[in-house]
Amino acid sequence: MSETDDLRALMEADRWIERVSAQRTHLPESEELAKLEGELRGIQRSLLEVEAVAGPLKSAYDDAARESSRLKKRANDLDATLAASTANARELNALQKELSHVRMLLGESEDRELELLLAVDPREAEIASLRSRALPGAVRRRELLDIIAQLQASLGDELVSLRRARDERAAALPIELLSRYDVSMAHAGTSGAAQVIEGHCDGCRLALSPLDIDRWKAQPIGVFMDCPECGRLFLP
Ligand SMILES: [Zn+2]
Repeated sequence: MSETDDLRALMEADRWIERVSAQRTHLPESEELAKLEGELRGIQRSLLEVEAVAGPLKSAYDDAARESSRLKKRANDLDATLAASTANARELNALQKELSHVRMLLGESEDRELELLLAVDPREAEIASLRSRALPGAVRRRELLDIIAQLQASLGDELVSLRRARDERAAALPIELLSRYDVSMAHAGTSGAAQVIEGHCDGCRLALSPLDIDRWKAQPIGVFMDCPECGRLFLP
């Protein structure tokens, strides 16, 4: 193999590594995951907002329900006492008065209970609907995390073997040429060499001047001019 072939092989190896690295960091599954996690966070926020309102309403409802049941029991006890009573008229009258007071309080408490129930119900329905919306998203998120982990592991393995092959190709180049290549690559990224295609550097897309094109065409075998823009070595 000529130096040019070795240089081309190294450039192709580096470009291939770049493609696989980019593939690894731009998985469509990662994009889907980011979008999904955004949606799930939105649902979570709504859930917290509704729960913040529903929580106090629910506990007020529970208090009212407890109060109603306490009053109901008190009214029943008074009823039973009155029915079995052998007390005098004055005591009976006092019991009657207490009973009607308790019934009035019970009526108020039951109204309140109903009012709170009507306020709690739609919020609990909303909480249930938000939770059921989040559920398939949470399942998909789990799947995506697994798929991404697998893809990244296999692309990671591929990169390891590509880099090993790349290092073998680099070792085939004469040391001065390799160090020029490495300097250009450190400066420009991706690879340290490029091709001229239709008058453009295919590394940085610079349109070469007619003078540079003439220089490039005239470069002797084994001599590589640098791209005036990105510094990559031009292959013949
Ligand atoms: Zn260039």
